Amino acid sequence: MNATALLDSRRRYFDTGATRPATWRRGQLEALRRLLVDREEDFTAALEADLGKSRTEAFLSEIAVVRAELDFALKHLDRWMAPEKIPVPGGLRPGRAWTQARPLGVVLIIGPWNYPLQLVLAPLVGALAAGNTAVLKPSELATATSAVLSRLVPLYLDAEAVSVVEGGVEASTDLLAQPFDHVFYTGGERVGKIVMKAAAEHLTPVTLELGGKSPAVVVGGDLRAAARRIAYGKFMNAAQTCVAPDHILTTRAAAPVLADALDDAIRDFYGKDPRTSGDYGRIINEHHFDRIVGLLDGGRVVSGGRHDRADRYIEPTVLRDVDPASPLMQEEIFGPLLPILEVEDLQAAIRFIGARPHPLAAYLFSDRDDHLAAFTQQVQAGGLAHNVCTIQLAVPGLPFGGVGASGTGSYHGRQSFVTFSHLQPVFSKPSGLDTLRLAYPPFGPVKRAL
Ligand code: NAD
Repeated sequence: MNATALLDSRRRYFDTGATRPATWRRGQLEALRRLLVDREEDFTAALEADLGKSRTEAFLSEIAVVRAELDFALKHLDRWMAPEKIPVPGGLRPGRAWTQARPLGVVLIIGPWNYPLQLVLAPLVGALAAGNTAVLKPSELATATSAVLSRLVPLYLDAEAVSVVEGGVEASTDLLAQPFDHVFYTGGERVGKIVMKAAAEHLTPVTLELGGKSPAVVVGGDLRAAARRIAYGKFMNAAQTCVAPDHILTTRAAAPVLADALDDAIRDFYGKDPRTSGDYGRIINEHHFDRIVGLLDGGRVVSGGRHDRADRYIEPTVLRDVDPASPLMQEEIFGPLLPILEVEDLQAAIRFIGARPHPLAAYLFSDRDDHLAAFTQQVQAGGLAHNVCTIQLAVPGLPFGGVGASGTGSYHGRQSFVTFSHLQPVFSKPSGLDTLRLAYPPFGPVKRAL
């Protein structure tokens, strides 16, 4: 089916009203949950094939995250769907005002390759909870996961409501030429601009979940604990994570201690030779492998640095004496290189962050309350986390999204429902008692005085 026919067919089904009732929405969310439970093995095998993800990591970072979103949505769906009463000012009484959440219609969800399952299905939870039909376009670079989604989704979900389209730029371009009611895109900034331009042709609203250079500022507290938490958040999925700490900003005194502690943490997690660890992933393809290896020149390697193109393996690597003008510090690394930069103090780190495009996440490691207060008040980023990194995404009640260059719009939890709904306002007055007559013309001097 071509893109036009596909959209028409999903829209016709939406127009029947079949997707509106809570029973349909709940049924689809439960079916999606069954899909993840029954076919866990198919998904973890596909993720291992695409990214060398360990089965445990695949379960935790892809399947469990979506299941938590599903459970949260199922628990709160009735409350989210209920109309919300809005107070009416005295001059407009008697009357009632409320908002009601209506589905947007047919939504397009375009996913990236790094969490190819989670980043297609987590938005779908919101789209279904809000009563939409949806077209899913997984990334062609995660070939195995895309194929499993395309094979299994129609077996579990209402096939009249949800379709999977496989393919790359051509398939995306065809879909983006259609007048969808919402486009939800996760991926890089360059394609984000293409998506936004294409959507503008139809005035289609967009959610753009992009990336950026997320800093981790380490200015106090237990440095060894900080190093372990940073190494965990950075090197999972071979550091191909949109909210992974991109680089560290720390003081001159802490830098060598932190570098040693990071090296220890890497050995603890992945052993002396991380290449042989079943828990350490691979780079998605040769193109990204070459790009990341090309960034190594930007600093002095103090831990790791080994790589093998045939295996798409890059060792977890820590760098010091980093050149801020080098490509390493100009583009999003999106790979297992972790530069440590030295700054005077927290305020210098905050100025460093403020002088660059808003990142998707910013992390503070410190045990001082005044540090936390300064960081949360002064740092503009999609989201903030304190003494942890990356795992803030596992709190389903917290909205997730970027700001400025790191994206527009957000989702997770109730925010997913809101993103895929139109909160339609309604104002209703009884017809009999015409209290509005005071506002009607002619406007004599008495009315003007009112
Ligand atoms: P990608 O190359 O897989 O592209 C994403 C999607 O866009 C794919 O489905 C692809 O087919 C489509 N696409 C590619 N070129 C296109 C074009 N010219 N026109 C239309 N569609 C096109 O993903 P990527 O961009 O390499 O992903 C990595 C980026 O995504 C990083 O910047 C990362 O930070 C970001 N990211 C953000 C989040 C988030 O939630 N904010 C999550 C993961 C990744």
